[in-house]
Amino acid sequence: MRKTLAVAAALAACALTAAPGRPAELLATGSGWKLATRLGVTSLSPSRQYTLTFATAAMKSRYTPYLTAAVSQVKAAGVKLVIGGVESVNPAKCGPVGHIQYTEMYRPLGRGGYSQAMPCPHPPKGVGTGGIVAIDTEYWDGSWPMPEYKLRNTLVHEPLHALGLDHPNLDLNKDGKAGDGECVATRYGNTPVMCSPNGGYRTSTSMGRLTGFDTAGLKALLANARAQGIK
Ligand SMILES: [Zn+2]
Repeated sequence: MRKTLAVAAALAACALTAAPGRPAELLATGSGWKLATRLGVTSLSPSRQYTLTFATAAMKSRYTPYLTAAVSQVKAAGVKLVIGGVESVNPAKCGPVGHIQYTEMYRPLGRGGYSQAMPCPHPPKGVGTGGIVAIDTEYWDGSWPMPEYKLRNTLVHEPLHALGLDHPNLDLNKDGKAGDGECVATRYGNTPVMCSPNGGYRTSTSMGRLTGFDTAGLKALLANARAQGIK
């Protein structure tokens, strides 16, 4: 009983000191976006350069065309993201600060057709430091055929995980879980590219681009940094 009271008192004191002059609580989720707060990432530094790097020159040539449009959109949202060069990648270990490292693996998640990506977890002050992207090799050897739009959207979905976006899936059908494909959509039926397992535009002109939902998520990561005075 005494313990409970002590905790309550501590919380009350915390609430008091947190009230004036302190920034409001950090954003964690919004319509069609969710931040990777479960991995300790709450922000992206507005001044830090984030660089996509690749384990081999062949991967750099393979992925660059798929990433160019999305990188422009990420930049327009305010994140200093660039396509960089080649460096050695150890998928079990985070690389240099700010690097989002690409490699390829056979079924990195242990499931056919799934790729995997994550930000380096629990960075200082929650400010993203980059991450790892492991693309399933099955996309390229013909063993996992999929429509072009799915491939393009997947290749953009994964690096956004490394930047700090999570799946924004919801329990829309009220069955108790946020299931596959259960995401908000525009009135044209477009779901966030971060919707799991596949979201994003399906037309040949827009596939592989971020939707407004995804851009809003990136802006939330930047806003959280600014709210904490992080440059
Ligand atoms: Zn995902």
